[in-house]
Amino acid sequence: MPISQLYKHWRLESDNDDILWLYFDKQNASVNTIDRDVMMELSAIIDTLAKDTEHKAVILASGKKTGFIAGADISQFTKFKDIPEAVSILELGQGILNKFESLKMPTVAMIDGFCLGGGLELVLACRYRVAEESSKTRLGLPEVRLGIHPGWGGTVRLPRLIGGPQALDMILTGKTVSGKAAAKIGFVDVAVPKRQLARAAKYYALQHPASHQATKLQALSNQQLPRQIIAYFTQKKLKEKINPIHYPAPYHALNNWEHVGVAGNDAYTQEAKSCGKLFFSETCQNLVRVFFLQEKLKGLAKDTSYNPRHIHVIGAGTMGGDIAAWCALQGYTVTLQDLEPKLIAPAIKRASKMFKERLKESNLVQRAMDNLIPDVQGNGISKADIIIEAVVEDLAIKQSIFKKIEAKAKPQAILATNTSSIPLDEINTVLQLPQRLVGIHYFNPVSKMQLVEVVKGQKTSDEIYEKAIAFVRKIDRLPLPVKSSPGFLVNRILMPYLLGAMDLINEGVPMTVIDEAMVNFGMPMGPITLADTVGLDVCFSVAKYLSKYYNTPIPKRLVELVEQRKLGKKTGEGFYKYDKRGKQIKPQEAAYDKPLDDIANRMVLLMLNEAFACLREGVVADADLLDAGMIFGTGFAPFRGGPIHYAKSQGIAELYQQFVQQQLAHGDKATHSDAWQLNAMSVE
Ligand code: NAD
Repeated sequence: MPISQLYKHWRLESDNDDILWLYFDKQNASVNTIDRDVMMELSAIIDTLAKDTEHKAVILASGKKTGFIAGADISQFTKFKDIPEAVSILELGQGILNKFESLKMPTVAMIDGFCLGGGLELVLACRYRVAEESSKTRLGLPEVRLGIHPGWGGTVRLPRLIGGPQALDMILTGKTVSGKAAAKIGFVDVAVPKRQLARAAKYYALQHPASHQATKLQALSNQQLPRQIIAYFTQKKLKEKINPIHYPAPYHALNNWEHVGVAGNDAYTQEAKSCGKLFFSETCQNLVRVFFLQEKLKGLAKDTSYNPRHIHVIGAGTMGGDIAAWCALQGYTVTLQDLEPKLIAPAIKRASKMFKERLKESNLVQRAMDNLIPDVQGNGISKADIIIEAVVEDLAIKQSIFKKIEAKAKPQAILATNTSSIPLDEINTVLQLPQRLVGIHYFNPVSKMQLVEVVKGQKTSDEIYEKAIAFVRKIDRLPLPVKSSPGFLVNRILMPYLLGAMDLINEGVPMTVIDEAMVNFGMPMGPITLADTVGLDVCFSVAKYLSKYYNTPIPKRLVELVEQRKLGKKTGEGFYKYDKRGKQIKPQEAAYDKPLDDIANRMVLLMLNEAFACLREGVVADADLLDAGMIFGTGFAPFRGGPIHYAKSQGIAELYQQFVQQQLAHGDKATHSDAWQLNAMSVE
């Protein structure tokens, strides 16, 4: 039997120059990920390569149409029986890569597409790395994002190759870089255009020039004394951004490097031990959960054949302008309509800035700019596949616009609204075919917020709904299907939390303390800072609207600030004051000596109460979708796995009792009590 047929996941081919091409092509998978089976086969291949005298070199390449290696198979992360089992599997992997590294035959990795985590660790064990230069090729060690650090030698080989500081910058942040940037940093020998990739790989395989080595200074950085100094400053910087209690993995990686270094076998042993332990941390378990929640949202886009090309956006304000820019960035033809050219101009300016930041290369920026066409006359309506309305939040204005759109639009075009609050079934009463209307609700800022709520009115057809979900995925956002009910999911849960924070100010709790309590809990920013950032006028209008349905009182201080046009960061003052560059000025506030955890708990209970009410009312289909919505729509502490998951981990019945006590203490009736109880049974 030819050698290539012995393996399920690998293919071996010999070429005319006696180079052996080792293609990784994982069976029954669209993407290459590494699991135990893949590793065991690789181990057997390496054993045959060690005896091979026929071939001059081996080139490791991907057998997939796109992508190189996405990393280790994450589904295995939660399957280890205990820490010793995790450590022994990591050590097994390390042993296989060490064996690969020791081959006498030159080994070249030909990297085209993403090469992440375990994939990068594998190629670091090759003698040479040749990468496609564009930003489509991404290299990195993103393990910390899953609550662990590299465990197959990455924390040892990378600092050896490029020195401590640059390696730590990759390992501790989990950032990814393009092929060109990787070559500049030095962990790829050369980055070339795609058409030259195979030739470059063969050059290294046949000519074997000197492989990349760390400079003297880089090598010095791995010595004991420099390690101590570098680690001291790195840790200080890390602590400014990352809470070690919430996210311990980068601290473990730094600690290992500082105390064990990168020479000899001890470094590998320590790496495996430390990573094995991290697999069993709650943070890792929850971040793996978040990864799969993200996959779940991606997988909701079923109609993959849907292929819109032209998007027309009406309203070039904060949202419409940014929605149009985002779609143009994704390669769609976008026409952008507003009442006058001067109302479109600021959106085009913002788009140009965003394109430059993201695309960097001027020809790509120009191409994105060409995609975005100002269109005061609304000529795009009759040509567009999707028409997104993002004008002011006013039912009559939206209705009159949709009446005009329906008359002009192609019969199969999707009609979408970005409304935050108006029920779809009120807007669609003016349509001949109300089933065509769907909600596509983005969050501000559009380019940063991954989540988009896709809203189904009672009349929205299944076909239009599926297409809208597919479209959201096509523009690289995460679709969350929600029922058309006031506030949908994210704003509805967020609002009692924000208003609750404002109530606390009223009760004399310093706002910096409230913010600090929630940052300590794990939110990306405190609720008062968040309200100032969103804009107090926006908060007020959503609160006013929601209070009609949910009877939530609006804090007096919010009303006063809005009346005084102190609308937050954008006007230089809201709850906080801001300097000219938009930096928050910390106020002098009275000392506060009660536990921050109590404050955080009170705020979180408000969110949970609303979350359970949303589940009871079927705003989203299940608890996982709710958790995903809050994590990707608000940044709800990812290491806690989402609000409902958090409630489950703490005990729903216990939290409910605390909520009732809290409401009674503040003179409120405990609302939605049945929601907690109903869901305690179904989700616990
Ligand atoms: P905005 O006031 O910034 O922009 C609205 C734009 O619509 C203005 O430029 C206005 O000139 C234009 N417009 C008004 N009537 C028009 C017409 N007849 N034809 C064409 N253009 C017209 O408002 P925004 O904040 O971008 O909000 C737009 C929509 O998005 C609202 O429905 C809002 O509820 C929703 N939304 C807002 C946010 C947010 O954070 N601002 C978030 C999600 C959704």
